Amino acid sequence: MMFETLATYGHEQVVFCHNKDAGLKAIIAIHNTVLGPALGGTRMWPYQSEAEALNDVLRLSRGMTYKNAVAGLNIGGGKAVIIGDPAKDKSEALFRAFGQFVESLGGRYITAEDVGIDVNDMEYVYRETEYVTGVHQVHGGSGDPSPFTAYGALQGLLATLNRKFGDEDVGKYSYAVQGLGHVGMEYVKLLKERGAKIFVTDINKALVDKAVSEYGAEAVGLDEIYDVPADVYSPCALGGTINPQTLPRLKCKVICGAANNQLADNEIGDEVVKRGILYAPDYAVNAGGVMNVALELDGYNRERAMRMMRTIYHNLARIYEISDRDGIPTYKAADRLAEERIETIGKLKLPLSRGRTRFQGRVRGS
Ligand code: NAD
Repeated sequence: MMFETLATYGHEQVVFCHNKDAGLKAIIAIHNTVLGPALGGTRMWPYQSEAEALNDVLRLSRGMTYKNAVAGLNIGGGKAVIIGDPAKDKSEALFRAFGQFVESLGGRYITAEDVGIDVNDMEYVYRETEYVTGVHQVHGGSGDPSPFTAYGALQGLLATLNRKFGDEDVGKYSYAVQGLGHVGMEYVKLLKERGAKIFVTDINKALVDKAVSEYGAEAVGLDEIYDVPADVYSPCALGGTINPQTLPRLKCKVICGAANNQLADNEIGDEVVKRGILYAPDYAVNAGGVMNVALELDGYNRERAMRMMRTIYHNLARIYEISDRDGIPTYKAADRLAEERIETIGKLKLPLSRGRTRFQGRVRGS
């Protein structure tokens, strides 16, 4: 039953990690290491059942393989989940015990932060293993990836405007930005700098006020964001916001934002095409975050990071070419780009280009 599931999704290895004294129950899933070591964050969540945790880690690790492959990284896909409540169950022992399991994999899996985990937790993991990214800047880490993610999303937007309208004049178009958090606010700033008309919404009123006063955005209600007359809808909050209820309301011609898992399901992805809307695949657009942490493996350098963000433009352009070539929706074309890259690079058999985890520039402290 278990191996059937692994065979269906193509996972290489699943590790169950248990330390009774530290209260650790975690699962590490390595989906694919053809391009390099599996990189993906650790999520801490109070899963209702072990099956739910397993399902989540299998799904998320597979997603990382696709994201990392399309991003052009020499990195495979993996993910970890820790079963527990981030508000109550965190401890030094728990994260150090988890770090020991990461270490035991000898670099086949490299971890990072995800939902429920912060940089302080990663400090404990880092005491036990080198195979962790997103550590604090004082250790040579890359710091908050959000501004990079926003800048990368802008590169994705340029390629998408070009494809849809034949120009890259950001300021000529209007935008509906949903979510003004770490990425969304920075994205609004970049749009404003280019003279765009922007509609914004967020649950947090202070963030909306900031977007209005600092970037001249127009505030709209949480639900109203789907009805505004904007050329581009930019989801930068939660996933699943493109669904059968919202799609008929959207007036946009382009969907391009940083949120993960924007399409509620594949059927809605097909429906988006029928409505003449160009969808910029989310995991290609928001790859800036993972690119930024992946650079830590080689010795982090901000200029290199900005340069790498600009490759998102070309990744999107390539996805649109594949969409044309094969007559498939863009969300499928992104998956195909990932699969083609894994297949062709996997055949090269160049061990030196794989799994270079040198961690240059790291400073170990107590
Ligand atoms: P964040 O938590 O800082 O911001 C999310 C914002 O969305 C918050 O301000 C929240 O109030 C708002 N929000 C939540 N529900 C909303 C709703 N229904 N309507 C309007 N606003 C709502 O998160 P973030 O780091 O900015 O990430 C945003 C999205 O981008 C997430 O989907 C995340 O997974 C994805 N992403 C982020 C990064 C990164 O570098 N931070 C990288 C890749 C992908």
